[in-house]
Amino acid sequence: MEEHKENIHDKVCNVKLPSNPDEEEDNKVSLSTRLSTVTLTEKQDKSCAKACLSSESIPKTASTSGEFSDPVYKEIALANGQINRMNQDELRSKLAALKLDTRGVKDVLRKRLKSHYKKLKLMQSVAEGGSTDTYYDYICVVDFEATCEESNPFEFTHEIIEFPIVLIDTHTLQITDSFQEYVKPEVNTQLSDFCVKLTGITQTMVDEADTFPSVLKRVVQWLQERELGTKYKYAMLTDGSWDMSKFLNIQCRLSGIRYPQFARKWINIRKSYGNFYKVPRTHTKLSIMLDKLGLKYEGRPHSGLDDSRNIARIALRMLQDGCQLRVNERIHGGQLLNVPSSAPVEGAPPPHNPRRRD
Ligand code: AMP
Ligand code: MG
Repeated sequence: MEEHKENIHDKVCNVKLPSNPDEEEDNKVSLSTRLSTVTLTEKQDKSCAKACLSSESIPKTASTSGEFSDPVYKEIALANGQINRMNQDELRSKLAALKLDTRGVKDVLRKRLKSHYKKLKLMQSVAEGGSTDTYYDYICVVDFEATCEESNPFEFTHEIIEFPIVLIDTHTLQITDSFQEYVKPEVNTQLSDFCVKLTGITQTMVDEADTFPSVLKRVVQWLQERELGTKYKYAMLTDGSWDMSKFLNIQCRLSGIRYPQFARKWINIRKSYGNFYKVPRTHTKLSIMLDKLGLKYEGRPHSGLDDSRNIARIALRMLQDGCQLRVNERIHGGQLLNVPSSAPVEGAPPPHNPRRRD
């Protein structure tokens, strides 16, 4: 089922992958291994673990072309060279010694260890007067469910039938809250048997639900009550491009309202995951991402809330592994666009109810 969504994404949304600081970092690694070697002492390991455990925010990673000449990046590259030469058992025992998660395949373990040292070095650099650009306080994971048909005709009008949000606190690295409402479709009011079976959402559930504009009002209120965009910096996150660029975009047109400003930019976790763990986009299905991280799907696949929770678990693991999840896609004039990794870490605006379309 997810494969289907993935294929469509790739066909419809031909967005160029951004250049990613972590990819640049790995390019530097191979250079560093040729240049010299460095030994990570136990003392360094311990101070690193302590500093990382006490960190409340993740410092911004530099991504300018001249960063290899920066001594901090040179140190990171040298450490990466060493990590690249470690086998799976060595990686596991090093992670265990640092009291870090030892689950996942070799590439995941390697990335986790590299990120650990990178975070430490960057934190030291910040403490010495480096960049202090702040990271999001919260990430809102959204995974819409929509009306559908088995044959999935291209011209089918998908209407949102479930609006879930799972809130991630990036400081505590916990899921702290969630929102969920079903939505009554107005164009095709009757759910197909296929849709009920796929999503677990019944005709009664949507019949008893409100229409999209009313649900969106409560979503906005929920976000405002949590002071997102005012007191706290936040970003939206989805599994793929479709939730915002297709489902929300179409729904807003059908409901006669403008596309909400707060959802104009988002983190596409598939893209972030592919760039961070260096896997092709075909390996970024929800089930594969979970599997590679040593996690199992919890709940019912294609329930919007359960999907959101599982996507949030992946996001949390990536944050723990040192990935600075950043907005990487946006919608403008109905078009899906890429946001380059060099863009500043900008939070979503305070949520407001969108105006009606003219
Ligand atoms: P997902 O987030 O993967 O649960 O999918 C979101 C929505 O995409 C679903 O609610 C359906 O409307 C549509 N969808 C997902 N998989 C399929 C499929 N195999 N056939 C038709 N529509 C699908
Ligand atoms: Mg889903």
